[in-house]
Amino acid sequence: MGFSISPETIENIKSRISIVDVAGQVVKLERAGSNFKGLCPFHNEKTPSFTISPDKGIFHCFGCGEGGDVISFVMKHRNMSYPEAIRFLAQEAGIRIEGDAESDKSFERRKRFYEINSLAGRYYFSELYQSAEALAYLKRRGISPNTAKKFGLGYAPRDWDGLLKAMEKEKVAPEELATLGLVIANKQKGYFDRFRHRIMFPIRNPRGQVIGFGGRVLDDSKPKYLNSPDTPL
Ligand code: ZN
Repeated sequence: MGFSISPETIENIKSRISIVDVAGQVVKLERAGSNFKGLCPFHNEKTPSFTISPDKGIFHCFGCGEGGDVISFVMKHRNMSYPEAIRFLAQEAGIRIEGDAESDKSFERRKRFYEINSLAGRYYFSELYQSAEALAYLKRRGISPNTAKKFGLGYAPRDWDGLLKAMEKEKVAPEELATLGLVIANKQKGYFDRFRHRIMFPIRNPRGQVIGFGGRVLDDSKPKYLNSPDTPL
């Protein structure tokens, strides 16, 4: 499969992505002057010799000799080919690679998923103001309506199909909701809402997009906290 990508696009991706953020997802980094240091993810060590220079956008390990830029870090750590690493970083940066069908497809797919999460968040948010019980609970926990609004807190009602019905009106298919872990597919009974009778907390990425939800019970039910499962987001 052909893969041509302009040097401008690669520069654009590298300028929008920080190697400290990318490596920081897998290595606990500490500042050391103008650099960052941590335990090397590529060899076993007890004292940090893995170093990142954010100014130069490169990493180097004085223990095993690995080094390179953010693209080589991703290739090595995720065992990806060069095109795969570029696509991965483009996604992280929210950049669409012009003319790359694979990138277009995954870009559109992710865009759709973020839209659905945002619609679900709005549904939970509006349900909060329909539930005297949920509002009373927040009040009891010292969360003001302003705070609830600021963080987009919501409420998932007791119904088994509250979200399903609301999303049907928005033309969101149950299969899509299941992919995002918002509903559960049951062979006998079809789909049903995963989150019921819970205070809902949207979980956002650094760009403010909702990647999932956490739900907390209002009483002593178990589990006390329920999170979205792993999803493509
Ligand atoms: Zn190393």
